[in-house]
Amino acid sequence: MRLGERAVLAGKRREAGKDELFGFGRGKHGPAKLNGDAAEGTEEMNIRLCLPAASVPLSGIMSPSIRDPFARPLRDLRISVTDRCNFRCPYCMPKEVFGAGYAFLRDPQLMTPVEIKRIVRAFLTLGVEKVCLTAGEPLLRADVPHLVRTLKMDLGLPDVALTTNGWLLEKLAPALRAAGLDRINVSVDSLDDGTAGRMNGLGFSVTRVLRGIDAAAALGLPVKINCVVQRGVNDHELIALCEYFRARGHTLRFIEFMDVGNTNHWSSDRVVPAREIVERIGSVWPLEAAGPAYRGEVAARYKYRDGRGEIGLISSVTEPFCRDCHRARLSADGRLYTCLFASLGWDLLGCLRAGADDAALARYLSRVCSGRLDRYSDERAELLAAGEGRAKV
Ligand code: SAM
Ligand code: SF4
Ligand code: SF4
Repeated sequence: MRLGERAVLAGKRREAGKDELFGFGRGKHGPAKLNGDAAEGTEEMNIRLCLPAASVPLSGIMSPSIRDPFARPLRDLRISVTDRCNFRCPYCMPKEVFGAGYAFLRDPQLMTPVEIKRIVRAFLTLGVEKVCLTAGEPLLRADVPHLVRTLKMDLGLPDVALTTNGWLLEKLAPALRAAGLDRINVSVDSLDDGTAGRMNGLGFSVTRVLRGIDAAAALGLPVKINCVVQRGVNDHELIALCEYFRARGHTLRFIEFMDVGNTNHWSSDRVVPAREIVERIGSVWPLEAAGPAYRGEVAARYKYRDGRGEIGLISSVTEPFCRDCHRARLSADGRLYTCLFASLGWDLLGCLRAGADDAALARYLSRVCSGRLDRYSDERAELLAAGEGRAKV
């Protein structure tokens, strides 16, 4: 890609506001941006709008292990089930932006469970094995246990996970477990109510979240903890967090503060590099690198040498991992994003609602996913290495 083109792309991406890993993305959930930046009348636009087959040469072939031009398979689908959240973490949905006047999606714009099931079934034909329900806050949606049951029981998905801020977990853990949920990720940035309250933007205590984690674990749900680390905000708690969660047998994954959107006051000074986190924890409890548990695992694993558990490091800023990226994201309004930083989505829900049958949907997906060229974080790292400013591409 030429630099000029990259700049155009950069501008588009800056509008987006996406996470690399878990499933937020206000831009893509926001008021419909129906592919406004695709050139009018191009084949690309037709595909994005899912025009009838006559105008879309659906030459893709369904394959149990589709590969993109970088030979990356697609294994992992993040489904955002709502764009709403009951927290206002300043690094994700700052309250000055996501306030009373913010236009969240309305119900008819959201995918129904039946629509989600049809879309996921199409993804299964491409080789997707894991689905993670996320959002906004997925537990705000009342039918999430039903959705989990559908994915597990009706579609037989081997791995269904959910990522939550934990506020509603104590109450909902039994229903999620009964529905067949395989794993849960809970976000905990601090064990201190003052810091936690600042980091969730609304002053909520972490105690209730911790009770939710205990409730899920007591039901036998494997729990992982996600912690976004920001220098000068919560990095003084690294050791306390490790101590607390390893005593309870939960893997803690530290996430580098990412430059999502334009509104989260990102600055490289606030990023604590994964390498530094490992050094700081390792100086208290020696660590050793462990290989990935499976190909394409997002977190780099480190085991405590004393044998009491492990931590994970998600280093999307300082050590990007696009070359092994196996994931895609579906927004709450049914758009497929082949990179979690992409601002253009492929309107799968529009296809369904326009009458596409399962075979047409699968061919469409196959075509989109086999052409996937995204490598946002790698490009950002290359720009940084070239000394191009703060390199938010
Ligand atoms: N609301 C749920 C939660 O907080 O777990 C699910 C969605 S949230 C967007 C998913 C994850 O993305 C959380 O672990 C959150 O901490 C992380 N995240 C959000 N903004 C981030 C940022 N700017 N940098 C790094 N991680 C971020
Ligand atoms: Fe974003 Fe925080 Fe809400 Fe999760 S809990 S979606 S990180 S604002
Ligand atoms: Fe993240 Fe890179 Fe995958 Fe995009 S291609 S989602 S930036 S790892």
